Amino acid sequence: MSTLSLSHVTKKYRLRNGIHSSVLIAVDDVSFDLVSGQTIALVGQSGSGKSTIAKMILQVEKPTSGVISLDDTPVIRRGAGLRRYRKDVQMVFQDPFASLNPYHTVEHHLDRPIRLHFPELSKAQRHQRVLDLLERVRMSPAEDFAPRHPHELSGGQRQRVAIARALAPEPKILIADEPVSMLDVSIRLGVLNLLAELQRQENLGVLYITHDLATARHFSDEIMVMHQGDIIEHGPADDVILHPQHDYTKLLANAAPNPERRLKQLAK
Ligand code: ADP
Ligand code: MG
Repeated sequence: MSTLSLSHVTKKYRLRNGIHSSVLIAVDDVSFDLVSGQTIALVGQSGSGKSTIAKMILQVEKPTSGVISLDDTPVIRRGAGLRRYRKDVQMVFQDPFASLNPYHTVEHHLDRPIRLHFPELSKAQRHQRVLDLLERVRMSPAEDFAPRHPHELSGGQRQRVAIARALAPEPKILIADEPVSMLDVSIRLGVLNLLAELQRQENLGVLYITHDLATARHFSDEIMVMHQGDIIEHGPADDVILHPQHDYTKLLANAAPNPERRLKQLAK
């Protein structure tokens, strides 16, 4: 059982414009807990601060104030502490075309995290792990996919490789920042179903970042609604959708009036 906690996390960016400067509060005093086995959706329109939260959790950006901790231990931002945290907290990015290196094979992408986090394994054992990971994300026969380069894969297959890479270190927490928004509509549901299945198998805590309330409701236990850096609403998914408290949430809910119908459209 693991818990990722954000406690009063704020991120301010200083914007410079010639001699003038102003401060943009991208994330404003955000607190929440994400535990193993739970999926929380972070929903909001573009620019609301969702990716900034992801970047702070991933330690790519440093909070201006507030504390991020895993299992009650504040994150250590360097050395072995950071390496251990990076093993436990993994990420799937939005763009499957930018997240893989065109010069490297699928096997190379998956072998790297295995080598880093499990240095005791032999080359043959690592190869077996690569194949197992590919099977788990339904890239089968794995032996066919392992030697391929990204340009020999579809967008959906690339995102499956990115998911396999995120699972390679055997993380406890997975941050998925709009993981299907750049994929063809026809394959989105398949990738989300795969993520949900892996989440259950591994008992992962998942932060599912999206602007789509319909999939947020379908795939998450809880929904947090973000608006201009604030989390304005946080509750069980059905409650947030069926009884929105804030006008902004109502607006979002009205933009996706019938989640079931929308999911059926996605499934087609
Ligand atoms: P979202 O992922 O919800 O679309 P972001 O977290 O990317 O939103 O951005 C939140 C706000 O912070 C936006 O106004 C964005 O322009 C601003 N922002 C993000 N990164 C930076 C940065 N490195 N420097 C300045 N402003 C930034
Ligand atoms: Mg974003």
